[in-house]
Amino acid sequence: MKTETTIQGLAASLNPARAARKIIGFVPTMGNLHEGHLNLVREARKLCDIVVVSIFVNPIQFGPNEDFDNYPRTLEQDQRLLADVGCDIVFAPTVEQMYGSKPRLTNISVSDITNDLCGLQRPGHFDGVAVVVTKLFNIVQPNYAFFGQKDYQQLAVIRQFVRDLNIPLEVIGVPITRAEDGLALSSRNGYLSAENRAAAPAIYKTLKAAEQALLSGDALPKVLEDMKSALTGAGFVVDYVEARTTELQKIEQFNEDLVLFVAAKLGATRLIDNLQVKYTAS
Ligand code: AMP
Repeated sequence: MKTETTIQGLAASLNPARAARKIIGFVPTMGNLHEGHLNLVREARKLCDIVVVSIFVNPIQFGPNEDFDNYPRTLEQDQRLLADVGCDIVFAPTVEQMYGSKPRLTNISVSDITNDLCGLQRPGHFDGVAVVVTKLFNIVQPNYAFFGQKDYQQLAVIRQFVRDLNIPLEVIGVPITRAEDGLALSSRNGYLSAENRAAAPAIYKTLKAAEQALLSGDALPKVLEDMKSALTGAGFVVDYVEARTTELQKIEQFNEDLVLFVAAKLGATRLIDNLQVKYTAS
């Protein structure tokens, strides 16, 4: 496995594979890798000849009071984990390498679906994601790009601009990897105190309870209210508890497949999770 830190170096590593028409798979990450990331790499390994993983903590997707400076950076450990799952190339550029020294005047802003859920709490976040992912797509030029359903809204935003801008690759969504107690794996879980880590699985329990309630006929607004109460009772400060269609449109009642979304804080740590609930007409 190679590590490249420059765009030129990466191109030199990838050009022979491109010339040989190898299928290139790409997994963008911010590092501090866990099994969730590694499962994306395993999926890429199944479909592609060459797997590239980027590790880049992207400053422009963090708000002024967010954790950019403190975000865990664990490159050596990440390299070991990636070598074990068959990654071919790690791309770990500096901020200077990605953004240069001249001001950036171009933005990529997806409307509608970003003015909702995490987009309301994190203004500019999805623009920052869209810009960096587009830059990385242009640098890596993969055939397939792999993203986790853990960040469901992000995945929808990426699918949208890939379609809108005719970016020539296929986006693959990969299901959420969870700890045994149900907590969705996240680099931010490492911020949790022991006490908060013990409380955190309540998010998944609440999602599963809501699924059961919906399937047994409870009304959607009541189910969402019950979720909020359960999370507040478990010590969370709720950012939002919402339901949307799988395409992220508003939904008032459970009459098609929907996705339940939670964003909630335990102490200073903001956790997100979601669960798709299938509708079957009875
Ligand atoms: P991040 O490093 O947090 O930017 O995540 C990089 C990629 O890994 C994104 O596509 C995430 O959706 C995905 N990811 C992170 N955690 C998980 C998880 N628990 N299950 C599945 N995918 C995940």
